[in-house]
Amino acid sequence: MNISEKFIVNLQRQEDRVILAGLSADGKISWQRTKKELLEQTYHWIGALKSYGINKGDRVILSLGKSPSLFPLHIALLAVGAIIVPLNPALTSIEIQQVLNKAESRLAITKPEILTNSPHLVNSISGSWWVDCLTATNLEKCVEFNNVLSNSSPVTEICPIDKEDIALLVFTSGTTGKPKGVGITHNSLISNLETLLISTWNFSEQDSLLHALPPHHIHGLGLGIYGSLLAGNSCFLLEKFEPLTVLSAITEYKISLFMGVPTMYHRMLSIEGDFDLSSIRLFISGSAPLSKETFSQFNTQFGFTILERYGLTETLFNASNPLNKVRKAGTVGLPLSGVDICIVDPQTLIPVKENSIGEIWVKGENVFSGYYKDPENTSLAFHNGWFRTGDLGQFDSDGYLSIVGRIKELIIVGGSNVTPGEIETVLEKNPLVLECAVTSIPDIDLGEKIVACIVTNDKTDTKALEDNLKVACQEQLAAYKRPKQYCFVQSLPRNAMGKLERNKLKDSLTKSTT
Ligand code: AMP
Repeated sequence: MNISEKFIVNLQRQEDRVILAGLSADGKISWQRTKKELLEQTYHWIGALKSYGINKGDRVILSLGKSPSLFPLHIALLAVGAIIVPLNPALTSIEIQQVLNKAESRLAITKPEILTNSPHLVNSISGSWWVDCLTATNLEKCVEFNNVLSNSSPVTEICPIDKEDIALLVFTSGTTGKPKGVGITHNSLISNLETLLISTWNFSEQDSLLHALPPHHIHGLGLGIYGSLLAGNSCFLLEKFEPLTVLSAITEYKISLFMGVPTMYHRMLSIEGDFDLSSIRLFISGSAPLSKETFSQFNTQFGFTILERYGLTETLFNASNPLNKVRKAGTVGLPLSGVDICIVDPQTLIPVKENSIGEIWVKGENVFSGYYKDPENTSLAFHNGWFRTGDLGQFDSDGYLSIVGRIKELIIVGGSNVTPGEIETVLEKNPLVLECAVTSIPDIDLGEKIVACIVTNDKTDTKALEDNLKVACQEQLAAYKRPKQYCFVQSLPRNAMGKLERNKLKDSLTKSTT
């Protein structure tokens, strides 16, 4: 089934209901749409896309930020069977060029503000917000948006979809190496989102989501935008995350759902004030590890138990803490129905003994079929039909999964394996440690030397803090796991999703010591 049919059926009920609003950075409503308006715009866009010759399977790059055309354009592109390539305007021009080359798209749709604010994008795509990528080798402006829209008539026809047809081609963040294209089918999106949002979290038309995530990543797009359209909940698109705005907007608009990355929750903890959060049903976290400290401090300060879940662009969503049973700190919960998870020794490729650490492998309808036109990376990523996530994990005796790190982040000290996460857990217990990251630099003797990078307050006596952290590590970690060097930094390098860019940290430390 074409996922846009599901979205359109929801929009056809109670047509006069306002379902979508745009909030400026200060939390004020800057525009809003009823279901009827969204439907009319969608049909108009379908007509425009068809008159422009966009057909099933054509790749179309979309970089619109949180503009009013975002929802109708997504639905219309899906309806004509196009493959949407969401593009992060913050990528460098080299990364954008790599995406453009790989995707071989028919069309790039963006808007003037994005082109003006992102010089990188301007260098890669010329000065129009409707650009034909096929006929113009230098990506020249072909058709002005207004001409196309005003000359087209509304069309309601929806392109039929087969099981293997791709809806989204998402290029993974590319913080390490070249971006790889992940093709996600209509089928995977429908089954995985219905399982997670509707069966597991009970999303419904009564809910309202405050959306503060970027709209081009699988978290903000797949879960936030497609999830809302599928569940029929209303959605407030916040232009930019600000912790104070989020807390005030929850109070003002009686929000029931918030999805964030751990950094957002961490930043909300620094906001003091009296907020009425009684409308909230769920605070959800994902995309990066939520520390046990943030989990418990959030509970103490705001009275909510954050629900953590786990997913990847390649697999959509794999596990979630339960809605009505215990949500365990430091875990991503239980495997979703229809998702098989196996923990495997990455060297022997044999499943590990019960409750041991190993690589997380995933199988199910939710898993993509391979990287776009990239057989080499595809064959590296799969083994006997299982997708190798590259994440290290462990089940506890109740079947809850914990993510303990990434295989590539594994530090090997004199032949012994150490995961940064186990050291970070010890360091984070000290209240003066606001954030920390453990990595390694080359060491002649042991191969790698463990370094802990700490963010603390300006007023902290860093020498005393370092001494305290050393004592804590002595008490709680085997000698080979203890950091040999501490460095105090203003902030840690993170990408737009709040994911720590450990490679950048490692590179800068290695450079500064050589
Ligand atoms: P992406 O494809 O950009 O969504 O990144 C997927 C990666 O994010 C996973 O392989 C994990 O390393 C990480 N990730 C996602 N959710 C979590 C979580 N709840 N806890 C820890 N890491 C996570």
